[in-house]
Amino acid sequence: MEVEVKATFNPNIYWTSLISGGVAGLFVDIALFPIDTIKTRLQSERGFKRSGGFTGIYKGIGPVAAGSSPTAALFFWEPVTGLSSTPFSVALCGAISGGIAAGITTPLDVIKTRIMLADAGSKNTSVRNVAKSIYREKGVKGFFAGFVPRVLWITIGIDVLDSLDLLSDTAKQNIIDWIYSLQVIPNSDVHCGGFQGATTLNLLDCPEKYSTDDYKWGHLAMTYTCIATLIILGDDLSRLNRKSIIEGRSVAAVQRPNGSFSASIEGNEYDMRFVYCACCICHMLNDWGCVNKSTMGAYIINSIRYDGGVSQHFEMESHGGTTFCALAALQLSDQLELLSSTQREKIKRWLLFRQDGGFQGRPNKPIDSCYSFWIGAALKIVGAFELSNFKENKDYILSCQDSVVGGFSKWPGISSDPFHTYFGLCGLSFLREPGLLEVMPSLNISMRAYERLQQLWNSQSNNDVQLNID
Ligand SMILES: [Zn+2]
Repeated sequence: MEVEVKATFNPNIYWTSLISGGVAGLFVDIALFPIDTIKTRLQSERGFKRSGGFTGIYKGIGPVAAGSSPTAALFFWEPVTGLSSTPFSVALCGAISGGIAAGITTPLDVIKTRIMLADAGSKNTSVRNVAKSIYREKGVKGFFAGFVPRVLWITIGIDVLDSLDLLSDTAKQNIIDWIYSLQVIPNSDVHCGGFQGATTLNLLDCPEKYSTDDYKWGHLAMTYTCIATLIILGDDLSRLNRKSIIEGRSVAAVQRPNGSFSASIEGNEYDMRFVYCACCICHMLNDWGCVNKSTMGAYIINSIRYDGGVSQHFEMESHGGTTFCALAALQLSDQLELLSSTQREKIKRWLLFRQDGGFQGRPNKPIDSCYSFWIGAALKIVGAFELSNFKENKDYILSCQDSVVGGFSKWPGISSDPFHTYFGLCGLSFLREPGLLEVMPSLNISMRAYERLQQLWNSQSNNDVQLNID
């Protein structure tokens, strides 16, 4: 794999880019801030109006402004190091600087979210007061609520780059402990197990009316990514409360009569994305508990559309992401044979027609590097990946690589991010690029991590030891 490296390097370009990038970032953040406020208040468990409605939509702008420039500066880490640009070093650089940027900006994000959600008319919404109250309640770790979801992408990406040894044993253990701190154990007040996405819920400070426990429940996407990350980091899953996840309290508890799944026990959409997450969880734990596989299989088959692709839910538009979810769910649940030969051939055709250099998610949409994973993995599951054009796919993914910042973006010439960096690497792994671990298409983790998981299953059955089932 080769990457062009510009022969000359003018140091002024670095400073000009740094300053203009910082200023541009600041203006974009300020311009989009009101939309972010409204979105955050709409998502608030306390309701839109009580969280402030449309008033004070610039509350919390201070921490955002403070975070804009350092983030831009961090993205210029790689030219400063003077390391040679290879796809490997550039991607690794993007992953690590993304992690550092997340580490610095997350505390500011936590403060911003709290100010946005403060009661209308509340006096204690200065950055200083909010920071003090978070520290009083939770200490330093309170500032890192929501940090793990970003760490998950970065950890998986570092594994595919075969560079997990960059994380010290202590760092790995800290991530493992942090993930277990998100595990929800059902009791008389908490109704659904699994993992929650962040410690943010633990920060609500109005116990008289909104007890934290009322809102504590697992989320299927977070449960899937947390277990996958634990496996990647070499954890033995012994602290996992399998009973609360499998036996009717988590995965099966969110299955709908039509066979689909919602993300959590209350107030959520139910569609193909969560069908996929449910299958990943059951497959990784090697236990399908009370999940009704046949109604789930029927839900998937009934979501196949006239053009051959699969939609997010009945009667919707075929989509590359949901076609992947559907096929991976069928494979993980050992039900691929539910597809008739005609359906299988039409899906292959629909998927192959998504290639236009790189891959697009739907007809008439621009190509995007992450679809080299979504469509590529789906093609691998139905055994048609070899029919795609490898060279055009590889050329497009590499054109999305940022040789200054590191990592991959969705389109050439825009900012790279951990999400597209990870999926760009997966796309290259499918093309058997050297230096990258093989990725398991359906479960979306490295084959090395999957083999470790299989060893775990074998050792459990050999020793006849059931993992924590209380
Ligand atoms: Zn994308």
